[in-house]
Amino acid sequence: MSAKILDGKIIADELRAKVATEAARISAKLKRKPGLAAVLVGEDPASQAYVKSKAKATNEAGMVSFEHRLPETTSEKDLLALIAKLNADDAVDGILVQLPLPKRIDTSRVIEAVDPAKDVDGFHPMNAGKLATGSPSLVPGTPLGCLIMAKKAHASLSGLDAVVVGRSNIVGKPLAQLLIAESATVTVAHSRTKELREVCRRAELLFVAVGKPEFVKGDWIKPGATVIDVGINRVPGADGKNKLVGDVAYDEAAKVAGWITPVPGGVGRMTVACLLVNTLRAAAARAGLEAPNI
Ligand code: NDP
Repeated sequence: MSAKILDGKIIADELRAKVATEAARISAKLKRKPGLAAVLVGEDPASQAYVKSKAKATNEAGMVSFEHRLPETTSEKDLLALIAKLNADDAVDGILVQLPLPKRIDTSRVIEAVDPAKDVDGFHPMNAGKLATGSPSLVPGTPLGCLIMAKKAHASLSGLDAVVVGRSNIVGKPLAQLLIAESATVTVAHSRTKELREVCRRAELLFVAVGKPEFVKGDWIKPGATVIDVGINRVPGADGKNKLVGDVAYDEAAKVAGWITPVPGGVGRMTVACLLVNTLRAAAARAGLEAPNI
């Protein structure tokens, strides 16, 4: 048996095409393009690359990108002042603060300073609370991307046994909430979970967000299961250069699973596309317009 591939590039490109169409419609009503402000503190190369690709995708979708690159030495006070300015700026519909922030800055305080109506990362406690209570507005991009991919494999998730490995605030927890809202039966596993292999083997839908290269093995997977691998890990390749691998041992898993996401080319592609969806949603909601048809 060989799993069918859930191709993040194809699914994300479809989503981005819909975003571009809806962005044009909303721009005509707003008489300006929806705007996304990205804030980056420091020179971390991975964070710089993420911000660059988010800005490029924003422009390609017919929206405006405002980039704010601040030095590593920026104080929390100055960062909060910039966020206050962006909150008050009518041309800015969405604000994303690239994480991680330097250790001396209180990340929670910064997240809570973003206007929840512009919180396109969906990290503000108000948006997390809305998701938990079943009235989601702006949902974190990576879990939303995982959900969209799972729905490509299953017309309905209702009643399916779903296991989410990882309980972070940015992936595992919001993903579990989204799956509950879809009426899946959800187990959240983490570093203290007993018999993790057996827990994973019960899953018809297995989501892995652990941050450990090729952690989930082929014999942890129920035959025919849908496997969504969130992990992005850089490891040395055979040629001495770094390569990207997920949290799932792909070659083994693909022999057992029914559907699987590759790394690279899987969930990572969806995260940026969902950020664009959120920017449009925020722009429409702030202007009192109908939500985009996506
Ligand atoms: P975190 O480090 O915040 O969380 C990792 C989770 O994995 C924790 O809940 C932890 O459990 C759990 N865990 C760690 N070790 C084990 C173990 N041995 N057995 C079971 N569970 C374990 O990571 P993130 O959620 O931020 O990210 C997870 C992965 O997803 C990373 O590879 C990251 O790079 C990737 N990622 C990819 C994105 C994308 O766009 N594709 C976006 C965001 C993240 P505990 O809580 O008990 O410590």
